[in-house]
Parts: sequence; structure tokens; C-alpha cells
Amino acid sequence: MEYAIDAAAQEQFAVRCRGVTKTYGTGDARVTALSGIDLEVRRGELLMVVGPSGCGKTTLISVIAGILDQDSGQCEVLGHDLKDMGQRERARFRGLSIGFVFQLFNLLPALNAVENVSVPLLINGIARKNAEARAEEVLEAVSLGSRLDALPGKLSGGQQQRVAIARALVHEPKLIVCDEPTSNLDHVTGRSMMELLRWLYPFALPNTRGMICTSNSVVEDDIDKRTMDSQTIAAINKT
Ligand code: ADP
Ligand code: MG
Repeated sequence: MEYAIDAAAQEQFAVRCRGVTKTYGTGDARVTALSGIDLEVRRGELLMVVGPSGCGKTTLISVIAGILDQDSGQCEVLGHDLKDMGQRERARFRGLSIGFVFQLFNLLPALNAVENVSVPLLINGIARKNAEARAEEVLEAVSLGSRLDALPGKLSGGQQQRVAIARALVHEPKLIVCDEPTSNLDHVTGRSMMELLRWLYPFALPNTRGMICTSNSVVEDDIDKRTMDSQTIAAINKT
């Protein structure tokens, strides 16, 4: 019976965090980054976490992605408590189930667009030829079909972030986490990036159960809310 309840919860939530706390450092240098965060990403939801610089967005995303351990509280991701997993199991879970988009794009400068996007597939053991064919498909979906061979340094900021989005999606992850994907882009490009994410999801990503996206400003505020009824704004600003 208990299993049935867990299975139902797993269906309903992509992420469920309760009372998550995290501090860095000790003594006078002690900083509280998260002081009891409750957060849920429901199935099919794109959750925006909005708050100013330093409020704990990256820390929260890192706990959810299993990159960082919380001090207390619980975080269940795709039905798993990552604290129960060993390091290798966690890394494998991340590699298979989570797609990341970062503030600074984090593309490998010596690799072209197709090679960058292939990386998650190669890590998961897909043969290079198949990985690159799939990477090309996803780059075409984000309108970069004409820049497949371009190195990141030859692309604009907006194009680099589209490569990064393609890389996050290429292995059809169940959860997509984006940490301030628009903060290094101008307003118009940032807006079109959010529109791209919303357009890609959930229709183009049938396996994706949820998306969580941080922002230090409400870039999305002036986007038509009627088209995004799956979206919730969760302010975690504790000031
Ligand atoms: P945000 O992403 O919203 O800007 P962060 O999660 O990066 O916020 O940081 C939250 C708080 O934790 C900030 O006060 C920051 O200075 C502090 N912090 C973040 N990472 C570290 C770290 N590795 N060591 C010490 N303090 C940190
Ligand atoms: Mg941050």
C-alpha cells in the first residue's frame, strides 16, 4: 500500500523538497544559503525560481541535481532521494536523467556545436556517429542547423545558449535544470530563450517530467501568461 502511495507521488512530482537547509563555512565565515526551502515541481511544470543574486538559487539547483548535499531536509528528485545514493550511482543518475543549462553556457571551446551537444550522449555510452546524428537533429530544432561546425567563440551569446539548451535536451532527460540561463543575454535574446524553452517543452520533450529555471529578474514577466499556465513563480528571496 505504501508503495502505491510512493508511486503516485512519483507520478505527480518531478521534484519535491521539504525544509532544505544549507550553510557554507564555519564560525564568523558561516553563510546560510538555504534556510528551510519547500519546493515542488509538478509533472509537466516549468517552475521559475526568481530571486536576487546571493539568495541561494545556485545552491538550491545544486542540491536538486545532487551536486551538493543539503545539511538537513529532504529532496526527492524523480522519485529518488539522492542522499541515499553513492557518488557513482548519483553521477550516473545525473548523466541519464538530468539536463543542465548554465548561466555562463559552459561550452567546451575547442569543440564545435555538434561535438558539444554530443557530449551527454558520449558520456552515456552512445557511439559517436549516432551521437552526432542526434546532436544535429536537436541543433536543427533550436534553429542552429546552419552552424553545426561552428566553435563557440564564433557564435553570439544567444546562439551559444541555444547550443547549451540543445546539449541539455539531447539525451531526453526527465528533468531539466537551468541556472540563470538568460542573465548573460540582453533582454530581447533572454526573452526569446525563455520562449524557446517553453516551446520545446512539454510538446517536443515527451519524456521530460519537469523543468526548473532560475532567474535574478522576472524576464518572463511581460510574456503572455496565458500561454504558460504550467508556470509558477516561486520567490525564494529571504530578505
Ligand atoms: P545565487 O545563485 O542566488 O546568486 P548562491 O546559491 O550562489 O546564490 O549563494 C547563496 C549564498 O551562499 C551567498 O551568500 C553566497 O555568497 C554563498 N555561497 C555560495 N557558494 C559558496 C561557497 N562555495 N562557499 C561559501 N559561500 C558560498
Ligand atoms: Mg547563482
